[in-house]
Amino acid sequence: MKLITIAIDGHSSCGKSTMAKDLAREIGYIYIDTGAMYRAVTLFAMQNGLITDKGIDEDGLRRRMGEIMITFQLNEQTGRPDTYLGGVCVEREIRSMEVSKWVSPIATLGFVREAMVGLQRLMGEAKGVIMDGRDIGTVVFPNAELKVFVTASADVRARRRYDELVAKGEPCSLDDIRANVIERDRIDSTRAISPLHKADDAIVLDNSNMTIPEQKAWLLEQYRRVAAEE
Ligand code: C5P
Repeated sequence: MKLITIAIDGHSSCGKSTMAKDLAREIGYIYIDTGAMYRAVTLFAMQNGLITDKGIDEDGLRRRMGEIMITFQLNEQTGRPDTYLGGVCVEREIRSMEVSKWVSPIATLGFVREAMVGLQRLMGEAKGVIMDGRDIGTVVFPNAELKVFVTASADVRARRRYDELVAKGEPCSLDDIRANVIERDRIDSTRAISPLHKADDAIVLDNSNMTIPEQKAWLLEQYRRVAAEE
């Protein structure tokens, strides 16, 4: 089968990364979680006093963008890639509610998007890659051979995120999480640069009533169909 590029976009917390990681492992592709990259930029801003009660210090962040080093390394135990910021594993920190609260405003900034999109294109240039995010099929890889747009109801998405955080021992409230996924979708869909929308040639998957194995089988079938055609 020919190597292709797979773009998985969609709303917050609808299981895009779980599907994408599973498929990558199954077919030996590289998986790139672009949301983790925007989260790592947000964490950098928080750690360096660039996010305060007054909001985001945009000029300060713009000046320090060159210091932000984001890499991924396969975690042998989980079989999935972990996110590193400046050589330090930040996989847990970037999933906190505080980072979730600030990540969408950070992701509206043009200079942040420009830097991340450049990095994503480099990471995916050799094909054989599955990338998930909000603008992969529309902006990062508009020529991707397979594009999927994933969605699910806000209640289902909030419950999934809640279960994930509880499993990791993170204190959280279902209402706060529901409000956060709705607010992130609002910011992501209405921002001026690269807003979240379905690419014309993307296949829509509403997985509200699907189990993880069902989604995995569905995505594998789409991949086989497209890669065999190429
Ligand atoms: O995918 P995840 O929910 O971890 O992404 C966190 C946030 O990063 C999103 O809510 C969105 O604001 C931003 N993002 C983005 N473009 C991407 C991926 C994520 O703007 N390609």
